[in-house]
Amino acid sequence: MLGKEYVEKVIKEVEERNKGEVEFLNAVKEVLISLAPVFDKHPEYIEEGLLERIVEPERQIFFRVPWVDDEGKVRVNRGYRVQFNSAIGPYKGGLRFHKTVNQSIIKFLGFEQIFKNSLTGLPIGGGKGGSDFDPKGKSNREIMRFCQSFMAELCKHIGADTDVPAGDIGVGGREIGYMYGYYKKIRNAYEGVLTGKGLSYGGSLVRTEATGYGLVYFTEEMLKDKNLSFKDSTVVISGSGNVAIYALEKAHQFGAKVVAMSDSNGYIYDENGINLEVIKDIKEVKRGRIKEYIEKVPTAKYFEDHRKIWEVKCDIALPCATQGEINKESAETLVKNGVKAVSEGANMPTDLDAIEVFQKAGVLFGPAKAANAGGVAVSALEMSQNSVRASWSFEEVDNKLKNIMKDIYLNAKNAAKEYGDEGNILMGANIAGFLKVAEAMYSQGIV
Ligand code: NDP
Repeated sequence: MLGKEYVEKVIKEVEERNKGEVEFLNAVKEVLISLAPVFDKHPEYIEEGLLERIVEPERQIFFRVPWVDDEGKVRVNRGYRVQFNSAIGPYKGGLRFHKTVNQSIIKFLGFEQIFKNSLTGLPIGGGKGGSDFDPKGKSNREIMRFCQSFMAELCKHIGADTDVPAGDIGVGGREIGYMYGYYKKIRNAYEGVLTGKGLSYGGSLVRTEATGYGLVYFTEEMLKDKNLSFKDSTVVISGSGNVAIYALEKAHQFGAKVVAMSDSNGYIYDENGINLEVIKDIKEVKRGRIKEYIEKVPTAKYFEDHRKIWEVKCDIALPCATQGEINKESAETLVKNGVKAVSEGANMPTDLDAIEVFQKAGVLFGPAKAANAGGVAVSALEMSQNSVRASWSFEEVDNKLKNIMKDIYLNAKNAAKEYGDEGNILMGANIAGFLKVAEAMYSQGIV
């Protein structure tokens, strides 16, 4: 059987077995289509049912999360943990707290995580979890009670050598702290079971900055290949959370001007370049809305529809909010306005039609599983430090992160060339990430 035929057969089976799971099906299609040439070279993987196995999570846990709000009312949310693939290491991947969370979203994120984690070159498998809990407008005490109830169940399924969750949308340092404290209380074990921890209890320097910094390091490598750079470029970054803020910080350090950022309500435009300290104060300290920026910087403008951020003219676009942010129409607008590179800080922010628009127009495209792997890479470095009870300096971790992002780019670039589509970093990242996991699964037999 040819690779293309095999891939099409498996995609059809996945569609039949996972009806209605739109995000998961899109993620599977994006990866599998680019893997076809691998099976022409490795027919033995077809014999071993490698794809049929890799698209099925090893384990999925769904659970009830009851908690009591500040008025004494009982609330019930759903908790998820998908342990997707442990061929190359313990499951690793973030927890997302957002009202849109469902089975399809957690599965798509967990599936992507397998290849992303493999690309880092570190020994970590793929997993993801979260809840449809909406942290917006909740008090600290409500957040704490929710996190404790969530961990009361999750703690039965995770462990420092089994599954090590981290943060994602809606889960930052505060939530990790509450969950870690409760895990320790129940299990009576002081171990690196979560990453993204505070520095006083086992966290790593650079973890907070890692995804945003890593995104800029990766993108700079990609730009360098075409004699381009962040220096003197105009940049648009969607979102204003953890990834977006540290992408802004590093892009500034690299000499770029970031002119627009957003949240789920709207976007701001500041032609003089967005002020990092003002954004940090609004989002990290006050947990406010992005429109408050114009109170502090009256020359900036605020627009109500966050989707329109892609109408702002830029050289480099960094989508850093959530999945499905850039559709065909937004991609066409970006191309018309002369965008040179699009690099994904968020997971799957660009839909398949939009990717095609960028590829046809010759726009450099940095796919999420490569471009935003810096976060999980430093999480894995946090696990290493926890294992040997050590704390490395900021410079040491930052240098490791830089080298990891450089290697990811090179591996993706080389794999694209080897498998016949030079310059297609999306295809190269999928193949490079897949090969290591495939080799491990092949060696370990049918499990
Ligand atoms: P945060 O919760 O810190 O920030 C998310 C940002 O995106 C906020 O500005 C939020 O706005 C905005 N946003 C969320 N949902 C929507 C939506 N439906 N429409 C428009 N805007 C939205 O999350 P992170 O920065 O950690 O994560 C952002 C993305 O990066 C996600 O896709 C995540 O999976 C990915 N990622 C994160 C990593 C990490 O280390 N944190 C690692 C790798 C990937 P608002 O405040 O209004 O909700």
